[in-house]
Amino acid sequence: MKELFKINQFNLMASDMIALNRSLPDVRLDGCKTKVYPDHLPNTSIVIVFHNEAWSTLLRTVRSVINRSPRHLVVEIVLVDDFSERDFLGKKLEDYARTLEVPVKILRMEERSGLIRARLRGAAATKGQVITFLDAHCECTVGWLEPLLARIKEDRTAVVCPIIDVISDETFEYMAGSDMTYGGFNWKLNFRWYPVPQREMDRRKGDRTLPVRTPTMAGGLFSIDKTYFEEIGSYDPGMDIWGGENLEMSFRIWQCGGSLEIVTCSHVGHVFRKATPYSFPGGTGQVINKNNRRLAEVWMDDFKDFFYIISPGVMRVNYGDVSSRKSLRGALKCRPFSWYLENIYPDSQIPRRYYSLGEIRNVETNQCVDNMGRKENEKVGFFNCHGMGGNQVFSYTADKEIRTDDLCLDVSRLNGPVVMLKCHHMKGNQMFQYDAERLTLLHVNSNQCLDMPLEEDKMVPTLRDCNGSRSQQWLLRNMTLNL
Ligand code: UDP
Ligand code: MN
Repeated sequence: MKELFKINQFNLMASDMIALNRSLPDVRLDGCKTKVYPDHLPNTSIVIVFHNEAWSTLLRTVRSVINRSPRHLVVEIVLVDDFSERDFLGKKLEDYARTLEVPVKILRMEERSGLIRARLRGAAATKGQVITFLDAHCECTVGWLEPLLARIKEDRTAVVCPIIDVISDETFEYMAGSDMTYGGFNWKLNFRWYPVPQREMDRRKGDRTLPVRTPTMAGGLFSIDKTYFEEIGSYDPGMDIWGGENLEMSFRIWQCGGSLEIVTCSHVGHVFRKATPYSFPGGTGQVINKNNRRLAEVWMDDFKDFFYIISPGVMRVNYGDVSSRKSLRGALKCRPFSWYLENIYPDSQIPRRYYSLGEIRNVETNQCVDNMGRKENEKVGFFNCHGMGGNQVFSYTADKEIRTDDLCLDVSRLNGPVVMLKCHHMKGNQMFQYDAERLTLLHVNSNQCLDMPLEEDKMVPTLRDCNGSRSQQWLLRNMTLNL
C-alpha cells in the first residue's frame, strides 16, 4: 500500500479495490433534492486533462459522469493526455473508451504542456454549449449537473463551481464538503477556503440552496458557457504546468463583468493530495512563481505589492510577455483590482486602503517586529531586520490594524504581550493609532504604547505606559499619510 501510494500520492491500492461505478451518498441539502430545473438546459462537453493519472481514479471519474448525468445533456467527454508515460493510458484507454455509452475523444499533447494548455486544447475540441472541466480523480454525485447548467441558462456570464466534496486520499471514503466556505487567497497568492461572510448569507436571505458568489475558485471543477469562455479570454496560455490559473480566471471573470459562483446544490468529489506526484520541469517554485507573476502583473494593479513585498525573491523570476493579456484587459474594459476588493471581496486579507506595508522597525534597537513563523494565538517576536519580506512584513491599514495576511497584532491586557489573532475588524484590542511625529504606536483600548523592553535578557514586544523613550518609537516601511 505504501509503495503504491507514492505513485499518485493517494492510496492507489484502496482505489483499485473499489468498483468504478460505486454508489455514493446523496449529500445535498434537503432543499436541493426537490428543486425543479427547466426542461431545455444547455448541453455540455466534459473536459478532463491528466498527466500520469491512475487507471481506477480516471475511469471512476468518467463512469461517474456517465452514470449520474442525464444522457442528453452530455455531448461528449474529452480526455486530454498531457504527455503521460504510462502504457495503460495509451491503447488500453482507447479500447476501453469505445465501450462507453457516451462519445469519448482522446487528445494527446505532443510534449508536457501543463494543465492550462492541455485544457485549452481540450476546450477547442468541444462541441457542447457549455464546457465543464473536471480533474482526473473526481466523482460526480446524483443531481450534480442540472443545477450548474440551469444557472448558466439563466445567465451565460455566470461561471459555476460545484461544492467540492472530499474523497479521502487514504481510504477513498466520500465526505461532504461545506456550503459555508468560499474561495479566497492570501498574500502569497495561495488559494484558501474562508467562511462565507454574513453579507453573502444575507444577500441570499439565508437560503443555503442558492448559489454563493465566491471571490475565487479552486479551479479544478467548473462549468462555463463555451462562447463566454472564448470571449472572456479562456486561459493565459503563457502559464505552465499548474498554479495561478484559477486566481487569474477568478479575477478576470469578476473584473470583466461576469460572476463566479458556487452552486451549492451540485456536489462533486475530488481526491485532495498533500503532495504533487508529478515533476515540474524547471522547478516547482519557478513555475508557480512565474504563473503568479503573470496573474499579479496583469490583474492586481498596485496591490501586487503585497505579493512582492512578502516574497521579494519572486521578483527575480522571469514571467515572459504579458502584453496580449494586458490588451485583453483593455479590450474587455475590465475594472481595476480595487473595485474587485471593494465590491466582490471586502473581507479580503489584502486591505483596500492602508498606510504602510513592510517592516516595522524599532528606533532604539533597530530590530524589526517578526512573527517568527508562529501561528495564530502566539506571541510576536523581534529579530534583526533582514529585508527579505516573509515574517517581517506587516501592513498598517486604514482600519488602524497591524496585520500580516489574516492575522492582526492583538493585546488583551495591560502591560500584556502582543499576540497574533485572526483579524476581526471590530477595532477593540486590534486598534493601534500611529503618531507620525512621535513615532509611537498607541494601543487605543489600553491607552498604552507598543514597546520593546528588556525582560529576562530578551526583548519582547509588549505594551507599556507611554513615556517618550526611544524603545517606544517605530518606523513603518513605505508609510504614506494620504490615503
Ligand atoms: N495535470 C496535467 N498536466 C500537468 C499537471 C496537472 O494534465 O502538468 C492535470 C492533473 O492530472 C489533474 C489536473 O491537471 O487532472 C489538476 O492537477 P492536480 O490534481 O495535481 O491539481 P490539484 O487538484 O492538486 O490542485
Ligand atoms: Mn486534483
